[in-house]
Amino acid sequence: MDTVSLSGKELAAAINADTKQRAAALTASGTAPRLALIVANDDPASAWYVNSLRKAAERLGIACDTIELGADASTERIRDELTARSADSAVDAIMLQTPLPAGVTLDDVSSAIAAGKDVDGVSPLSLGLLASGLDGFVPATSEAVVELLKHHEIQLAGRHVAVVGRSNIVGKPLAQLLLAENATVTICHSRTTDLPAVTSAADIVVAAAGRIGLVTGKHIREGATVIDVGTNEAPDGKIVGDVAAETVRGKAAALSPVPGGVGPVTTALLMRHVVTAAENSRSA
Ligand code: NDP
Repeated sequence: MDTVSLSGKELAAAINADTKQRAAALTASGTAPRLALIVANDDPASAWYVNSLRKAAERLGIACDTIELGADASTERIRDELTARSADSAVDAIMLQTPLPAGVTLDDVSSAIAAGKDVDGVSPLSLGLLASGLDGFVPATSEAVVELLKHHEIQLAGRHVAVVGRSNIVGKPLAQLLLAENATVTICHSRTTDLPAVTSAADIVVAAAGRIGLVTGKHIREGATVIDVGTNEAPDGKIVGDVAAETVRGKAAALSPVPGGVGPVTTALLMRHVVTAAENSRSA
């Protein structure tokens, strides 16, 4: 079977074209939309991602401030920064970069991000709104998975989707979004017994575990669709996914590449959220 590559580049370009126009309209009517990126680590992969977000913002006409708090920042320091930026009317959107310093969890600090500026949907309020089916910002990576599937016209209603990973920023919100699309969802994690048996029962498998090569040909059934969310640094420095692509190709009907699949759509959706937050605050 030929395995179709589910590229995210075309979809990301379409989202970006719209975002650029909306950002230009905001700038023409007063001020450019403004994103505050809060960083509290010295992780090279995070620095690479922050740099790519800054470049994406610049290309789209979004102002972007990076606030470096240092890898030893305390919970209180990070919360204070998030509270101050939430209260600052010049800031439309806030994104807190991970990893956080040792001893600080996302749950300790994310509630300090105002819901209207929480463009990556990480606060308990944003996640609660999503779980309740109410409007709010949705974590961009989870949204990117659903948008990528829709873009490639892969049906979700009535299909069985296995999500590998249950984090608050990817796996759990993705399960909520898939339920909203009327999929039947199984969430897998590190304590799932016999992962291949569970995932090979699904029509669609989403790998979001952060483990290189975790999902292989034996984890999927013939003709399944496989979405690779993993963004892992291989020993040679390359970015690789959670799927052992060479074992899946020929068996899966479709597979999203890494890089070039979920990643560009995630960045595009984040930037779209920034512009939406700015539009909402200007019209409030
Ligand atoms: P976390 O480390 O927070 O969560 C990983 C999840 O995977 C956990 O629920 C864990 O289970 C589960 N898991 C780990 N090992 C296994 C295993 N052997 N079998 C089954 N489940 C397992 O990661 P994130 O959710 O933050 O990120 C997941 C991946 O997505 C990473 O590679 C990350 O880099 C990538 N990512 C990509 C983005 C993009 O734009 N493309 C954006 C954000 C993240 P348990 O809960 O039991 O520990």
